[in-house]
Amino acid sequence: MQLVLATHNQGKLAEMRAILEPAVAGLELVAYDGPEPIENGTTFLENALIKARAAHAHTGLPAIADDSGVCVDILGGSPGIFTAIWAGGRDNAENRGLLLKQLVDIPDENRGAAFVCTIALVTADSEVSFTGNWPGVIAREERGEHGHGYDPIFVPDGFGLTAAELEPEIKNAYSHRAQALGQLISFLNVGL
Ligand code: IMP
Repeated sequence: MQLVLATHNQGKLAEMRAILEPAVAGLELVAYDGPEPIENGTTFLENALIKARAAHAHTGLPAIADDSGVCVDILGGSPGIFTAIWAGGRDNAENRGLLLKQLVDIPDENRGAAFVCTIALVTADSEVSFTGNWPGVIAREERGEHGHGYDPIFVPDGFGLTAAELEPEIKNAYSHRAQALGQLISFLNVGL
């Protein structure tokens, strides 16, 4: 079975392929090279659906897309869908810096946050979604060399280390994305 991944990010394609193909017998994840839709949804789910619907419409194949970000309790769930552009551009160092500045006077007990990832699957006759939520707190400063994005300032509950200090295999076993992918794998194994 072929499944289109609605991203032009080759790194994401390789990462998803490495997880999904061994986990689902007969699955082949293929790259999407059609037009990119405007992501103007108001939730992770809406944006994931917009991307997966566009890839399905263009290719006629079942399509998946993900949307993810960090949601900070005291900011009412922001940055949320604005995670990638929180400081105005797409620079993750600036995004992290702005978030740390916004929380500078917030005590440890009120720094709760979560990484969230929603994956949408769109086929000819159905739309389903899978969401992973990885709770934690926003650190006071950056720590760690692994990972990407907001990993250096996110301390997942139960670890006492930032996501960038965790070994990648540990992050990849527990993360929001790992949880959503696990649900997708279970669904695909039951049969489309
Ligand atoms: P996208 O959905 O992959 O485009 O990610 C949206 C934003 O969330 C980007 O700023 C990413 O850096 C951030 N983000 C998503 N997943 C993670 C993660 O696992 N660690 C750190 N940042 C993440």
